[in-house]
Amino acid sequence: MYRTHNCGELRISDVGKEVTLSGWAQTIRDKGFMMWIDLRDRYGVTQLLFNEEISTPELFKAARTVGREYVIQAKGVVIERISKNDKIPTGDIEIEVKELTILNASKVPPFTIEDDTDGGDDLRMKYRYLDLRRNTVQQNIIFRSKLAIETRKYLAGKDFLEIETPFLIKSTPEGARDFIVPSRMNPGQFYALPQSPQTFKQILMVAGMDKYFQIVKCFRDEDLRADRQPEFTQIDCEMAFVTQEEVLATFEGLTKHLFKAIKNINLPDFPLMTYDEAVRRFGSDKPDLRFGMEFTELNDVAQNKGFKVFDSVELVVGINASGAGEYSRKQIDELTEFVQRPQIGAKGLVYVKYNADGSFKSSVDKFFSQSDLNSWAEKMGAKPGDLMLVLAGEEEKTRKQLNELRLEMGRRLGLMKPGDFKPLWVVDFPLLEWDEDTERFYAMHHPFTSPKKDDVSRMLDGDHETMKSLRADAYDLVINGVEIGGGSIRIHDRALQERNFKLLGFTPEEAEAQFGFLMGAFEYGAPPHGGIAFGFDRLCAVMNGQNSIRDFIAFPKNNMGRDMMIDAPSPVHKEQLDELHLRQVGVEEKKG
Ligand code: ASP
Repeated sequence: MYRTHNCGELRISDVGKEVTLSGWAQTIRDKGFMMWIDLRDRYGVTQLLFNEEISTPELFKAARTVGREYVIQAKGVVIERISKNDKIPTGDIEIEVKELTILNASKVPPFTIEDDTDGGDDLRMKYRYLDLRRNTVQQNIIFRSKLAIETRKYLAGKDFLEIETPFLIKSTPEGARDFIVPSRMNPGQFYALPQSPQTFKQILMVAGMDKYFQIVKCFRDEDLRADRQPEFTQIDCEMAFVTQEEVLATFEGLTKHLFKAIKNINLPDFPLMTYDEAVRRFGSDKPDLRFGMEFTELNDVAQNKGFKVFDSVELVVGINASGAGEYSRKQIDELTEFVQRPQIGAKGLVYVKYNADGSFKSSVDKFFSQSDLNSWAEKMGAKPGDLMLVLAGEEEKTRKQLNELRLEMGRRLGLMKPGDFKPLWVVDFPLLEWDEDTERFYAMHHPFTSPKKDDVSRMLDGDHETMKSLRADAYDLVINGVEIGGGSIRIHDRALQERNFKLLGFTPEEAEAQFGFLMGAFEYGAPPHGGIAFGFDRLCAVMNGQNSIRDFIAFPKNNMGRDMMIDAPSPVHKEQLDELHLRQVGVEEKKG
């Protein structure tokens, strides 16, 4: 037997017991006549003691050969520690070792296996098995495992079936870029890895499965950011005979269950906000509700007062940063530079300080009287000691810019408190989104999303502006400004699906070639249905107050989409390419 106990379970009540432990040597302290080794496994750390008075010389000698990360087995007696360590649960005891076996040696690890390691990103990813031994990383993976198990428990309890869908599917040009896989048996033809199981889960509803879920890998060949990976995991679901309310109720229930079961947090009921309202109040369809700082439109009090910059624009809009009235010149300059960065693109920033004595100091004092500024303050609900920040320009762009500024002020003022969770449902998304560059409509969610019932007739014969105003039965779950997931009620009628493809610029032939199987299925008794998918990696990160999903994935890829441990992607042999009917990149064809 390798062990009678793990390294995290022995307590003062175990004193006197004969035990055997196995694990990794984390730290080794040699005081000459005494030696300690901290033995680590997934469950914790237990201190081993080698004492010259008790240990045989052979045992002491063997202990001296142990290096960091050696795998060892120790037999001994649990004793009370003289100097206790209250930072770890096993800190009251240690093991007086009688027998030591070295199970495996280890090279000196290339970085320290501690919470704050000295290893850089790429090095840690190359030796991911060592990185995963670190407690912080291991806790993330354990958290993820619990989240998956609780998700299964909850959904199984609600009669959902876990059904696998294929990974080798058909490439479609809609949505993100596909990863494609050549088919050896079908020369010149390719599979694609699924961006989501969308069409399959809808087909499962046509097939009468009623409630489906899957914790499933999805693949999107996009440029990477901290919260993106080329392969990521979704909690993917679909339900038949449901309205939007029922889908939201089910997944609000799941979210509450996960927070309660894993973090012991009781979430309140999630508020519902329409897309239009979210954009109007926060300039974003994923507002962070941990703080207010809502938008106030100032057109009626700020325009036609002789300030040209404001007079000609569509929108003058501001936020009130409570308590920031003492901001220095330098701090305000920083904010101006922040909104002028190319990623944000504002031309300038107008500020109004509401002084403690009730007067105002602003960057537009030349154009606006104290009483003008007072009317701004009234509209914005500002008080002495506050700082009003105002942007102006084209409506949509300006709202987006002010959203960035609002978040920046939230960060600066410490209003995004970790441990504070503010979920909401954003509903009634636009059905279509116009793209200026390609001059066509795109589905805001995806092409299978149903327009709202009242909008169906307008969809059938509307003009361009009508198309823009169509609303969908689509919804997102947002927590702390992060989109956790989204879904929709689907079209389940062939004619309406055809109409939607037409709006999206598909010819009937293209629609048939790509999605004929789905529309065909709709002709055999498709029930009304809808669903949702949660980003599983993101949910892990948000529940832990972190931005990067990478720390919650056992084997993530780096910014270049590379797996540093196995060194992929990599070239393949010419023979493999030949078999796949692919020519080697860079190999010139013979001329003439
Ligand atoms: N398939 C969608 C997505 O991946 C989610 C859904 O509509 O259920 O975003």
